[in-house]
Amino acid sequence: MGDRAAVVWDSSLLGYDLGGEHPFNPIRLELTMRLASALGVLDGVELRVPEPATESDLERVHELGYVRAVQQAPTVTWDVGHGLGTDDNPVFDQMHAASALVVGGSLLGAREIASGAATRAVSIAGGLHHAMRDRAAGFCVYNDCAVAISWLLDNGFDRIAYLDVDVHHGDGVQAAFYDDPRVLTVSLHQNPATLWPGTGFVNELGGREAMGSSVNIPLPPHTRDPAWLRVFTAVVPSLLSAFRPQILVTQCGVDTHEEDPLADLSLSVDGHREIYRTLRGLADRYAGGKWLATGGGGYQLLRVVPRSWTHLIATVLDRDVAPETRVPADWTATVRKIAPHADLPTTMSDGRDTAFDPWGGGLDRPIDAVIRDVRRAVFPLHGLDPDDPRD
Ligand SMILES: [Zn+2]
Repeated sequence: MGDRAAVVWDSSLLGYDLGGEHPFNPIRLELTMRLASALGVLDGVELRVPEPATESDLERVHELGYVRAVQQAPTVTWDVGHGLGTDDNPVFDQMHAASALVVGGSLLGAREIASGAATRAVSIAGGLHHAMRDRAAGFCVYNDCAVAISWLLDNGFDRIAYLDVDVHHGDGVQAAFYDDPRVLTVSLHQNPATLWPGTGFVNELGGREAMGSSVNIPLPPHTRDPAWLRVFTAVVPSLLSAFRPQILVTQCGVDTHEEDPLADLSLSVDGHREIYRTLRGLADRYAGGKWLATGGGGYQLLRVVPRSWTHLIATVLDRDVAPETRVPADWTATVRKIAPHADLPTTMSDGRDTAFDPWGGGLDRPIDAVIRDVRRAVFPLHGLDPDDPRD
């Protein structure tokens, strides 16, 4: 399996740079690829170099008028609207080209899987799940996840499961397929009453022709690894067994980490590693092994993102990195040049135990109220019994 996994990367993806002090700093990607290389995870792996998505690719999920605004934004002096030129989504040089390349990366992963050249693919530059049909949002210009899913729908895939583990609601992808029963979108995120974008409540279930195809799992602030995994395993595997996807598309944002500056969940690098291994197992069990993984959010640029996404790449390649593995000294030396005084990690672990008790059907823990609410809202729409833990 490992040698049939495609890793999408080219340093030109670092051109998606929102500039200045913006938290979405491309160094997160560069340091990830350096760490994965230093650990030998990428030994012998031929990186797949993406081409920019075309306008017709982008028009799968975006209005042409919005694409034109993105193209013009760096050179015009007037307000182009569409969410561009804001603090979250500043205009930058080569904005269209850089954003189209990110989409091209996720599309390349989708194409590699659809053609049979690969069973799994990972593009850590992707995962820009907030971009909407006609506007930029939440650091996202074009929605690579939605474009890739739309392309897969036209290339042999009729049932696609999208799993979004970013701390923020996967609102752009949900919106793109809200009325499409062929796409099951599942987002686990910090409770939207406490975090931007303020959507992703349990009662957002999909449009009239697609009820149940939109699943939202809001988690209370400070949720830790065992509770997160308890909820995930009480809801997601059952839905996949009922939906029978042909492929998993996952957004693997790591802003759920306890040290992330933009949100309040309390996961660890160990939890992220366990999540990726769980996603891989679900792809193998329910989707014929097909798994397209993208990156996403994550703003602890030095201590968290590089380690967590190295675990992601390693998991996709079946080259799992043991938590106690030492962080290589040459990587640390590189980071020291950028941040001489940063407190850098020494191992690929935060020392957390991710073991959890599976949900047993009751309300034994505070987090079980989330499980009950989500299962009662969604499970009957899939012919599943919300109160039976065997379902
Ligand atoms: Zn996020």
